[in-house]
Amino acid sequence: GGIPPFRNDPMIDFTIPEQRAAFPRAIAEVRAAAGGTVPLFIGGKEVFTQDTMPTTNPADPDEKLADVCQAGIAEIDAAIEAAGRAFLIWRDVSPEDRANYLFKAADAARRSAYRLSAWQILEVGKQWDQAYHDVGEGIDFMEYYAREMLRLGRPRRMGRAPGEHNHLFYQPKGIAAVISPWNFPFAISIGMASAAIVTGNPVIYKPSGIAARIGYNLTEVFREAGLPDGVFNYCPGRSSVMGDYLVEHPAINMICFTGSMEVGLRIQEKAAVVQPGQHHCKRVIAEMGGKNAIIIDDDADLDEAVLQVIYSAFGFQGQKCSACSRVIVLDPIYDRFVKRLVEACNDLKIGPAEDPANYMGPLADASLQKNVGRYIEIAREEGTILVSRDDIPARGCYVPLTVVADITPDSRIAQEEIFGPVLGVMRASTFEEALEIANGTRFALTGGVFSRSPEHLEKARKEFRVGNLYLNKGSTGALVERQAFGGFKLSGVGSKTGGPDYLLQFMDPRVVTENT
Ligand code: GLU
Repeated sequence: GGIPPFRNDPMIDFTIPEQRAAFPRAIAEVRAAAGGTVPLFIGGKEVFTQDTMPTTNPADPDEKLADVCQAGIAEIDAAIEAAGRAFLIWRDVSPEDRANYLFKAADAARRSAYRLSAWQILEVGKQWDQAYHDVGEGIDFMEYYAREMLRLGRPRRMGRAPGEHNHLFYQPKGIAAVISPWNFPFAISIGMASAAIVTGNPVIYKPSGIAARIGYNLTEVFREAGLPDGVFNYCPGRSSVMGDYLVEHPAINMICFTGSMEVGLRIQEKAAVVQPGQHHCKRVIAEMGGKNAIIIDDDADLDEAVLQVIYSAFGFQGQKCSACSRVIVLDPIYDRFVKRLVEACNDLKIGPAEDPANYMGPLADASLQKNVGRYIEIAREEGTILVSRDDIPARGCYVPLTVVADITPDSRIAQEEIFGPVLGVMRASTFEEALEIANGTRFALTGGVFSRSPEHLEKARKEFRVGNLYLNKGSTGALVERQAFGGFKLSGVGSKTGGPDYLLQFMDPRVVTENT
């Protein structure tokens, strides 16, 4: 076949003047296009509703980017009906043809990569390179899952018994509800949606209200790819109005969710109940929180370690489930590491993501700002504040970048997911103790170790029990295929995104035996 092996989308290279110049241009273009009303997209048609919700720039809440139509019960019913109709055709479209739609959608996203990045810079306050990387990850998901479907789409002969042919193959489960977060608003949304679609399941997509305009980018991309009507339905709406309704609806077969532990657990509970008229068990894939630690061994390369801890903790304002929120430092190196960490934190520039000179920007929304603000109060009560960058813009959803030390492993700051730029520093007297602290939360998503000791790295490989462990590397920025992503414990259920088991969750296997 003519399909080249999967490769990750290239990273942005700011030494290339055209790539640098493309950002201000794309931001201006998006700004000029902003301000309208964004419709729902159901059964291949734009649907306008009375109820709308504004979406704004968190660096300047007076800058409205769009009024987004809100799906209520009636619109969800319409979307489920459209998806149900589409399913009868889509489930029998060949894996090759379904994969081709993803290749086309990936091409469409590549052509618009700067524009798609600009929406993230403006709607959620993501830095240029990280916004571009998010779009690249979305492209990667489509390219990877398309190839995975080609692999899994071939019926497999089972066994070698004479006089009998046994074939195993997969069929799609049905209608998928895709409920996505605002922090990787393009990548995670299109990753979940494209996995469902390529395996034959029509999608009802509910983006986060905080990133609903970015969510519409999926509609644009799938329309450009010519995806048949009803296979992808864009249904932003208020969780309080239609969240449970969507999850509990008897026609929904699976729910793909990425977000907080609280919401993930609620979805699993609701989805477990078999509703009247429902003839199947719903499958839930839920990627939830993290409380990720990086261990700094006594022989660590501090130049690297400080840089990577800062990026892992404060990149995109710490709003990643992979973010480092605990750094566990071995006693002999503690003072040296902490001194350099504090100096580096005090040097970071904070301000709008639109200006690439700024390392850290606003949180994505005022409600998040309030929540993280409360945790900063708790940090003051529980520990010693080492850094508190309150030299932040007065307007916009900023919170002080905060580093807190002298917290105990069972303190709230050391145990609860904060989802903001708050880093807890802890001390360990041995590497074993450091591992014990690292493993001592409800979560098991990412982790990191900076060490030059082969024995310690080997020990970490075995005993640092997280889904994604990085040795001498920061804990964020997983790449499709190379760092297939996801955790366990209360970090989630389901297999790794961008990995070889992911698509299997969207299908049911069948075996046909023919006596010959
Ligand atoms: N995959 C992302 C990373 O490795 C994190 C995803 C998330 O925050 O949900 O940084």
